Amino acid sequence: MLEIFGGHAILPGGISKGISVAVKDSKMVDIGKTIELRKKYRFSDSIGSDKWTISPGFIDAHLHSSQHMAIGKVKSAKLLDWLKAIWKWEGEMTKTDAKKCAGQTYSELAAAGVTSFVDYTSVRHTEEAFKVAEKMGLRATIGKTMMDRNSIPELLEDTDQSLKETEQLIRRWHKKAGGRLRYSITPRFAITCTDELLFGAIGLSRKYKTMITTHAHENTKEVAYDKRIYGKSAILHYNDIGLLGKNTLLVHGVWLSKKELSVLAKTKTSMVHCPGSNFMLKSGCSPIGKIMKAGIKLGLGSDIGAYKNVSPFDQMKLAIRMQKQNGKTLNPKLAFYLVTQGSADAIGLGKETGSLEIGKKADVLLLDIDAKSSIASIVNASTKSVKKTIANGKLVFDGEYE
Ligand SMILES: [Zn+2]
Repeated sequence: MLEIFGGHAILPGGISKGISVAVKDSKMVDIGKTIELRKKYRFSDSIGSDKWTISPGFIDAHLHSSQHMAIGKVKSAKLLDWLKAIWKWEGEMTKTDAKKCAGQTYSELAAAGVTSFVDYTSVRHTEEAFKVAEKMGLRATIGKTMMDRNSIPELLEDTDQSLKETEQLIRRWHKKAGGRLRYSITPRFAITCTDELLFGAIGLSRKYKTMITTHAHENTKEVAYDKRIYGKSAILHYNDIGLLGKNTLLVHGVWLSKKELSVLAKTKTSMVHCPGSNFMLKSGCSPIGKIMKAGIKLGLGSDIGAYKNVSPFDQMKLAIRMQKQNGKTLNPKLAFYLVTQGSADAIGLGKETGSLEIGKKADVLLLDIDAKSSIASIVNASTKSVKKTIANGKLVFDGEYE
């Protein structure tokens, strides 16, 4: 049995002093005062420091590993122009590139304290990302991007072929590695997906009980484009065709009407806020206060390559800063919640991960932070403070990442 100990721990009820977490196989089997747990169990291994803080593993609810090699190389632009540039990169990706991108991204995630993530790979080579995730030990939800209209020739798919390939990937990878790997069906966004493709995606999601995740309402030009296609917004169209629901995760939602918020709440659809990408692509500021007030589950995502790195510390700080610039408030405690339990709930893993609780999976961090005063000290820190990342009971990052 493994002991993880720290000077402080961030537990669901608040910050506690002198805590140990007992880990057996992939789960946390006990959590309590270090002095008591050491009397109760004979630990075969022990990691930690009285100077460190134990935190639940962070969750990146939305990213694109396939864009890793383009970070910093695509000129900043607004969404629709930026996509054209990034698609060029994705269109030229080889199998080796895909493997390299996933390897690099997932190593950086582990070093940044991320234990669970949702990754949109490109249209091809999704298998490579799964293979890397299987080997590295992180809790991964991965899907291949689907596009059967309005894309570049290199990425444009035949509708049936896209669905067929998706189904093959589901059969090969969904709930594999003891349930640590999951497949998510990932149509890119309304502009690039026909209804035929979306109906097929809904059918597969119901058949195999997988999540569907797609981008929506990120930028005003995109929203106007959707209205030209459907005569209404993408979210209202998705509601009409049955795409919304408790297994659906919509990314962005920067531009939302009262009616759309109520539809999302009613259908129990989850959302991901990506402040870094909204900031870089000048998309606007998501009304996250209204989203949460409506009872919609909300998580945080880095959305690399639109943002430059996968640091959850950056996303928490940016989320707070963007709300402040728009006259709203997001306190550090809530920002921390969004990157842990909030994201876990949004991606459908709220019972497995997101907090330090007995019976949950051992997705745990040791941070070189003295958190005795408040959670703000975590939000204000950087990825350099991550000393150990444990995912599913196994050490996936140890020390400094080069
Ligand atoms: Zn994205």
